Amino acid sequence: GRTGASELIADALAAVHEAFRDLDEGTVATYIPELATADRSLFGVALAGVTGSIYTAGDADAPFTIQSLSKPFVFALALMDRGLAEVLEHVGAEPSGEGFNSIRLDPATGRPPNPMVNAGAIVTTSLVRGASEEERFARILDLLGAFAGRPLDVDGRVYVSESETGDRNRAIAYLMHSAGSLTADVEATLDTYFRQCSVLVTARDLAVMSATLANGGVNPVSGERVVDEIVTEWVLAVMATSGMYDYAGEWLLRAGLPAKSGVSGGLVSVGVGQFGLGLFSPPLDARGNSVRSVAAAQEISRQFDLHLMHRP
Ligand code: GLU
Repeated sequence: GRTGASELIADALAAVHEAFRDLDEGTVATYIPELATADRSLFGVALAGVTGSIYTAGDADAPFTIQSLSKPFVFALALMDRGLAEVLEHVGAEPSGEGFNSIRLDPATGRPPNPMVNAGAIVTTSLVRGASEEERFARILDLLGAFAGRPLDVDGRVYVSESETGDRNRAIAYLMHSAGSLTADVEATLDTYFRQCSVLVTARDLAVMSATLANGGVNPVSGERVVDEIVTEWVLAVMATSGMYDYAGEWLLRAGLPAKSGVSGGLVSVGVGQFGLGLFSPPLDARGNSVRSVAAAQEISRQFDLHLMHRP
């Protein structure tokens, strides 16, 4: 039978799902044409504990493309491959206060502000080791699968859709190549980045992926060590300051947890040493964060006193 604690968590997830399922605000992203076809009523909530227990409510098994939620995990892989010092030569660790597709680079170094905005994530992707571009992407796909605890696939339609319409990311990448922060082949890096963003996941996958970060880099379901513990500290720190686009500061104020959101409507949030939360609902607010996911995660944080600044 379920213990008292697990019953409490299951009931809380069901209650937030019930509370926000009718919060029908925001707009589904359309700048990647294929994303515009998403069902705006979808809403999934999942929580994975560091003990490996998983709780879900709503559409927790509905597949969607990972988009920006790939960024913290690929940042982790770049850190494993290159170490912190080398990564920081190419990308900064400062919140940008700007949107996800900001074009601003540091005038002195040519570096993008942080690995959670598109510019920084494109650089991060270029830092993943691989003898060829195929091998580089294979390593990224394997890594995302190791975080999720199951093999993952690419949504070919979303990949083609983003690749065909990705002029702004292309422009940013060429700008960074000219500024010296992106040293790899531009088109090959962009192709890998677009594929990485098109990997299919569910809210349940996101919960396990973020629980792996919460658990010091060991996947609590598969038992596999995915990344070093120190790498999880670096990734979570950057998520805390920069994971929610230009809402990062107010997010930390209200929810008090490291988090990352993406344009397909996903959100991951982490209680260090405790749990990973994965949420999904396509309609986005003006800053590009999922309306229902933000509301639900903030409510869960409030109910369980999870704010980082909460006095223990
Ligand atoms: N693939 C998307 C892009 O590069 C990801 C953006 C996001 O999720 O913030 O535009």
